[in-house]
Amino acid sequence: MALLSVEATSFARLLTDAIREGTDVYKPEPVGERWAWRRATTESLGASGLSLGPARASEPVKGLAFPPRGQVADFFKKGDGAEPGKAILVGVRACDLAALRVLDHIFLSEPFRDPHYAARRERMLVVSADCTGPYEVCFCTFVEGAPHPTAGYDLNLSEVAGRLVVETGSEKGEKFVEAHRGEFRDASDVERSGREEARRKVQAELEAKVRSQLLDFKDKVRHITRGREEHAVWAARAPRIASSAGPATSSARPATASTCSTWRTPRA
Ligand code: SF4
Repeated sequence: MALLSVEATSFARLLTDAIREGTDVYKPEPVGERWAWRRATTESLGASGLSLGPARASEPVKGLAFPPRGQVADFFKKGDGAEPGKAILVGVRACDLAALRVLDHIFLSEPFRDPHYAARRERMLVVSADCTGPYEVCFCTFVEGAPHPTAGYDLNLSEVAGRLVVETGSEKGEKFVEAHRGEFRDASDVERSGREEARRKVQAELEAKVRSQLLDFKDKVRHITRGREEHAVWAARAPRIASSAGPATSSARPATASTCSTWRTPRA
């Protein structure tokens, strides 16, 4: 896939043009101390440019891909009712993409493919972005993720030295770039290495933070459970644990700290 470079203001202008042509553009906006998904306007893009925030918006991306309310039929028209409009989601993070993969699997798999979700996804351009400042609660590296997208996007943006390094990830993304080729140029070697360096730094910091937090967590768990492996609390709690954790813990064997710890203690 291609690695290109574009001015942030030029990319914001492309989004503004898309809004004028009737596309809904969503991006994270600062709301108090958090970042939240908001529909961008030509004014907001003009005022705040392409600020994408340090990491994911506080709401899940599901609300945009699969809205809780929508028209599914029109009695007086042929077909399934209103077609969803075009949408561009800008600033989707790697963990949001993991969630989208789950939604795609559920709603796009036969035999129960959801035609409304499929139509919406078909008309949606997913523009992801690298995380530049993970939150205190971020732990994607602990579950084999990374603070930068590796798959599932149409375009990915990495902020490097005041410009955006853009990676295409799908045919849809390539078509978008092709339609505005004059705004993009190939990423330079400095931009390529700048992106890798920034990614390495953010990932290393997040890994170190997650490791120290989980070591602390494991120490606390060990302190509480040591010498109490056969305590009555485990037998009392086990049925509830079994009902939430499923077959893996639902054997008739009495639960102890060691059997419960299969789900209580995270991997090192
Ligand atoms: S750092 Fe990881 S967990 Fe945090 S928003 Fe980015 S991808 Fe998600």
